[in-house]
Amino acid sequence: PRRGGREGARMLEVRGLTAGYGPVEAIAGVDLDVAAGECVAVVGPNGAGKTTLLKALMGLVRARAARLTLDGADMAGLPTHMRSRAGMAWAPQGREIFTALSVRENLALAALGRPGGPAHAIDAATARFPVLAPLLDRPGGALSGGEQQILSLARALCAGPRLLLLDEPTEGIQASAVETLCETLRDLVAGGQAALLVEQNLDFVEAVAGRVATLDRGRLDGGGPVTNPGAVPPPRRR
Ligand code: ATP
Repeated sequence: PRRGGREGARMLEVRGLTAGYGPVEAIAGVDLDVAAGECVAVVGPNGAGKTTLLKALMGLVRARAARLTLDGADMAGLPTHMRSRAGMAWAPQGREIFTALSVRENLALAALGRPGGPAHAIDAATARFPVLAPLLDRPGGALSGGEQQILSLARALCAGPRLLLLDEPTEGIQASAVETLCETLRDLVAGGQAALLVEQNLDFVEAVAGRVATLDRGRLDGGGPVTNPGAVPPPRRR
């Protein structure tokens, strides 16, 4: 099945992205494209630089690039909040929701300064994710891992982003929640959402991503189509 074909224009274009901490280069020379309506996955072992890649795209770590554009607009010189305003949204590893604030307050904070404001964002989030509706007044810290991940995703979507950056969304959540998340992401991408997904769960990657690239010690190989070595090959055409 086609999932986010390559017919869309390049939404994110990255050339020669290098980023790190002090003298340490955690990623080097990364080239990457994500088209509209496409989900691209980046896989790789712990410490490969996956989180650093997403942080560099958001402007959260020291980085330089020959090219870093979103819909043709240069992001490289912009601070994080301007990249966010331009359409990049980040759902961080470990979710990082505000555990002492209610679900409603978490969403309201994410919607501050956005068109429609908090009330609209809360309505939109519960319409999209009905599971959040009965949880609105519960503290974020009282949610299950899967519910927290949905909240994190809903929060990132409050901005109506062009590009969604997801850092290991399946980490530490139970199988049924992974399935829900999988369906949710597939729907979003089928609806035209562009996403860059960092993951270690290869089944999940196979289910939601159209292309996958491997990051190893800071180097990214070219993203090829998702292949499923365990799948029964299609019948040969005559
Ligand atoms: P994981 O899957 O464990 O989250 P990752 O692929 O996301 O790993 P990064 O977190 O991007 O990897 O780390 C890449 C490299 O940068 C690692 O060698 C790590 O030790 C180093 N690193 C990460 N954060 C910092 C930091 N704040 N200061 C110094 N080095 C760091």
